Amino acid sequence: MIPHVLPTYNRAPLAFERGEGAWAITAEGTRYLDLGAGIAVNVLGHANPDLVAALTEQAGRIWHVSNLYQIPEQERLADLLVEHTFADTVFFTNSGTEAAELAIKMVRKHWDHAGDPDRIEILTFGGAFHGRSTGAIAAAGSEKMTKGFGPLMPGFRTLPFGDHEALKAAVTDRTAAIMVEPIQGEGGIRPLPDACLQGLRDLCDRTGALLVLDEVQCGMGRTGRLFAHEYAGIAPDIMMVAKGIGGGFPLGAVLATEVAAAGMVAGTHGSTYGGNPLACAVGARVMQIVADPAFLAEVNRKAALFRQRLEGLVDAHPEIFEGVRGQGLMLGLKCHVAPVDLVRAAYDQHLLTVPAADDTLRLLPPLNITDDEIAEAVARLDRVAAGLAG
Ligand SMILES: *Cc1c(COP(=O)(O)O)cnc(C)c1O
Repeated sequence: MIPHVLPTYNRAPLAFERGEGAWAITAEGTRYLDLGAGIAVNVLGHANPDLVAALTEQAGRIWHVSNLYQIPEQERLADLLVEHTFADTVFFTNSGTEAAELAIKMVRKHWDHAGDPDRIEILTFGGAFHGRSTGAIAAAGSEKMTKGFGPLMPGFRTLPFGDHEALKAAVTDRTAAIMVEPIQGEGGIRPLPDACLQGLRDLCDRTGALLVLDEVQCGMGRTGRLFAHEYAGIAPDIMMVAKGIGGGFPLGAVLATEVAAAGMVAGTHGSTYGGNPLACAVGARVMQIVADPAFLAEVNRKAALFRQRLEGLVDAHPEIFEGVRGQGLMLGLKCHVAPVDLVRAAYDQHLLTVPAADDTLRLLPPLNITDDEIAEAVARLDRVAAGLAG
């Protein structure tokens, strides 16, 4: 008999009743050190007092009003995002997938508005992940996500990751947009070198194509900058954000320049819940904390500490680990063993990690993890590796 919850996930036999910072705690009181953070979502850890206050204060006032009315909490969050980024305007969604969906629609509308409605081709890259809607799976294009779901939405071409020649040949003045993650998350913590991101910006400038960055996983301070593309000194035309922006409350956003968003006038897009007062009250608090340069400096300091310890771990277990990659606190351990075996063994050490692709263990701790917790995490990973080797 089919379970009452549709069985689309491979779940661990673990349930958590509450959390405190970097710790997730079962009903029996067993504490797990959480290096997954709900897949890069809980940027400020579990039950963060500032976020609990922002949520409960808003919950006592008004939860939901719909976008038929002005929503001051939404405007405040949009102001913060515009102030701290390239963007001129923001649309709020409830998830990363919905942000991807709007980014695709915005690209098409941009060219339709420019009098070129047939300019629809969006270039994407192998190993990409943009969500699970029909548009987002067509964009990423992998067999694993698209098989059995019928004809794909047209307008996407997926290029091999890192193939510069294929890219140069593919980008023409008919290209509508290039859509890419500055660091692939699900694809195995694969960073796009700064020079490549600059190269993409250049190709877009030369052809007029829009640069769409998916910072759903790598954004919101995860890499030590508010958004990962800042390292390359470039700006996109459109950017998808979600995961960390709500600190655990469902929230996503599409940020865009005024030019890219041309055509998105009243009636062209909408969402019942998107940008509701609860989500935006929390999102504004997250932004106030994470966008603070002092907070980001701490993320970088801790990231350097974590990375140095992880390099030591790799050296100590060359039969298990091949190397460390990623940026800031978006880290991956490339492994010689199946990452799911490491994830399972880590449960026995009361440590939560996340697999990515078929060769990477993802470490995405809350950005306010402490130095002691980093040391504890590496000690536990050391026991995991020793156990698997032995
Ligand atoms: C998680 C993710 C998405 C999809 O976000 P959801 O909130 O799960 O819909 C899209 N893009 C990237 C890069 C992601 O990591």
